[in-house]
Amino acid sequence: MTLDLPANPNAAAVAADRAHVWHHLTQHKPFETRDPRVFVKGQGLRVWDAEGRQFLDGVSGGVWTVNVGYGRARIAQAVAHALTEMNFFAQTTGSVPGAQFAEKLISRMPGMSRVYYGNSGTEVNEKAWKMIRQIAVKRHGGRKSKILFRERDYHGASITALSACGQGQRVRDYGPFTPGFVEVPHCLEYRAQWGEGDHAGSYGERAADAIEEVILREGPDTIGALCLEPITAGGGVITPPMGYWERVQQICAKYDILLHLDEVVCGLGRTGTWFGYQHYGLKPDFVTMAKGVASGYAAVACLVTTEEVFDTFKDAPEDEMSHFRDISTYAGCTAGPAAALENMAIIEEENLLENTRNMGDRLMDNLRALQENHAAIGDVRGKGLFCGAELVADRSTRAPLAEAQVQRVLAECQARGVLIGSTARAMQGLNNTLCLAPSLCVSADEIDEITSTLDQALTRVLG
Ligand code: PMP
Repeated sequence: MTLDLPANPNAAAVAADRAHVWHHLTQHKPFETRDPRVFVKGQGLRVWDAEGRQFLDGVSGGVWTVNVGYGRARIAQAVAHALTEMNFFAQTTGSVPGAQFAEKLISRMPGMSRVYYGNSGTEVNEKAWKMIRQIAVKRHGGRKSKILFRERDYHGASITALSACGQGQRVRDYGPFTPGFVEVPHCLEYRAQWGEGDHAGSYGERAADAIEEVILREGPDTIGALCLEPITAGGGVITPPMGYWERVQQICAKYDILLHLDEVVCGLGRTGTWFGYQHYGLKPDFVTMAKGVASGYAAVACLVTTEEVFDTFKDAPEDEMSHFRDISTYAGCTAGPAAALENMAIIEEENLLENTRNMGDRLMDNLRALQENHAAIGDVRGKGLFCGAELVADRSTRAPLAEAQVQRVLAECQARGVLIGSTARAMQGLNNTLCLAPSLCVSADEIDEITSTLDQALTRVLG
């Protein structure tokens, strides 16, 4: 189906985009001879570009964000109401939507109690690290200020977030970086780094013990926090191996290290529970979230923490420096929490967590079936509607498929009307993984359309 548009009504906008907009993560040279893509309409999981071409979006707005799908008028109406009533006042004060969303969010996060608002994933991660540094000063005379991050994880685009980035392509050229961030090894079992040796445990336990080795090397009294994605997203859709998280939680407790979980992708239902960490029974000190919080209908991000952390900042009220000294202007805009509240209501009313679990199982089953017919699919992994298929040139050596080939597979899917993503650029030949993460309201037919299109594209490109 193509959208019934009058002849090129968006031609002027496309020309203006080509002349003046600098797109994210994009090499613009090709646009000297052709137009960039401009999307003009979305409904459900379908999007239309300015040329009237229709696509089934298999990655929720390109970056696993539009959890409840496109065209949700009720979110737009809630935002309009909030903005008309009281659009903004600095977050040094409260707002009705801000208070309502915080209460609702906390009710789905047992053990957590405080919400700190921001605008993007990068920003709330940095806010968590500022809190961690300040806690180090308050509790440990400033010693426990280092923050551990993991190879292949990503936490944002600012210089400090890149200081905690485990993906080479994102980091190159942008140093010098913020000191005090230390990398720990990844836990991707398909690309296992450790044999059994004299370690009797599972691969997950060995991968977690590799974190402990870094802690001992650096000195436990210098480490304030461990920051991890519950399931690594752009680094290859890495689901943790069995036994990993239990051991990580033990290690944090043993060395008095705060656990910061970056749920920017996993949060708000993507994996079939409200948060990714809830699959593993974890007790984090900080949870940060952004993309799915308002499904792309407004810019809102949250840092959620415990009452214990919060109380630390109430000590010495007579000291002008004892509270958390941080602000973001637009965190005071009510559009964000108003959209987030409505987004959560949709997830609940339409049972989208359950749909995510069911449709996620179907997607994984379909991918496993494709793996039987396509030697290039070396590994499939995922949880809920957060799935990856790692492409290899040779199954026995597990050599990654060349990036150009991965891009051709994506282009063939697009030519057939389905958008999917990949980690090939970010991972630079380390794990070239296709990313499939449709909106949580996806239907069985749409799942089958995504995987049958991928089947055709793989056949076309790789035989
Ligand atoms: N953390 C993770 C796990 C992410 O995937 C991203 C964005 N892709 C971020 C943080 C940064 O979020 P933002 O782009 O909203 O700053």
